[in-house]
Amino acid sequence: MSEISSYNAAQTEALNFFHRYLDVLFEQRDLEGVLSLLDEAMTGFGTGAGEVGQNREQSIALYRHDITHAPNPIYYQINQQQLVSLVDHQAYQFSAVLRLETEILAQQLVFNHLRITLIGVKKNGQWSLVHLHASFPTSEHCDDEPYPVKELEERNAWLEKRVKEKTHALEDALVQLKKVAETDKLTGLYNRHYTDRLLAFCIEQAEGFAQTFSVLLIDVDLFKRVNDQYGHLIGDKLLMQVSERLQMHLRKDDSIGRWGGEEFLIICPQLNAQDASLLAERICCQIASKPFDRVGQQTLSIGVTSYRVGDDFDHLISRADSALYQAKKQGRNCAVTQV
Ligand code: GH3
Ligand code: MG
Ligand code: MG
Repeated sequence: MSEISSYNAAQTEALNFFHRYLDVLFEQRDLEGVLSLLDEAMTGFGTGAGEVGQNREQSIALYRHDITHAPNPIYYQINQQQLVSLVDHQAYQFSAVLRLETEILAQQLVFNHLRITLIGVKKNGQWSLVHLHASFPTSEHCDDEPYPVKELEERNAWLEKRVKEKTHALEDALVQLKKVAETDKLTGLYNRHYTDRLLAFCIEQAEGFAQTFSVLLIDVDLFKRVNDQYGHLIGDKLLMQVSERLQMHLRKDDSIGRWGGEEFLIICPQLNAQDASLLAERICCQIASKPFDRVGQQTLSIGVTSYRVGDDFDHLISRADSALYQAKKQGRNCAVTQV
């Protein structure tokens, strides 16, 4: 055998080996087939961040992960193939630029510039792979070509954006729901349900921290007449205006709720009965002194009471109710305090 022909035979043998490796790895996706071609002394390889095989075992784990996660055939085409003899035809370096085409998640993907370098050795008549290197030069990417990492980053950013949008929408919906659940539709004040909860909370606080608080139970005087005389809609408008005026008297920590039809409850944390009584009188005066649209002068009666040690919800409210009843009995447009 001449020097030239023996050289060609070794070259052909080496080429066949490298092509077999590419076949089993890419087209057949045959893990056992790939592993059978790896040399015992194979060095590791890396394909990107978090994908590094430092030794043979880790490299095998990378192959397993790759093939099980993307089992579809990857059709490859070899461009710019080079073969270099290293140790008197017993070792060869194979370099090439590959074009890969595959389908992942029903998406057709093409990668034009996978640069691959393989080193194979012949031991006891058998070829095996001792080294491999693969890289995607980012500068050579075409516009229509998905660069895998970039594609993942874009997809990730899109997903994050969607999650943020959904989270915001959900938060907005929750705020909206909470508002609806707490609010009286006509007046925009707290509704009865929420006012009950607030009052129960204030009683707990007062018990726990030996604090007092006061409540003002407010009733629009002779409201039925307004409805009868001007109609229900005008009655509604009056309730809205009364609500607005009442709110002007609140301090920062005070709350107001619609207690019933034409009744309101103001809760004043840390306000004693005497100051609550003065507040109630101011409210009565202010309401009576300024006529309302369409219906003219209107008045309120107010029952005032403060928390007493041992009070529960019913005790407190029945005292306020009884004070209100007294105010009505005294001729309306006044506040009565019971402690
Ligand atoms: P008093 O001074 O004794 O409180 O007399 P009043 O007429 O205000 O009391 P009464 O309890 O006899 O009547 C209250 C009226 O309030 C009866 C009811 O139809 C009316 N009302 C209750 N809720 C609403 C509402 O949301 N809108 C309107 N327009 N009227 C309502
Ligand atoms: Mg009433
Ligand atoms: Mg009334």
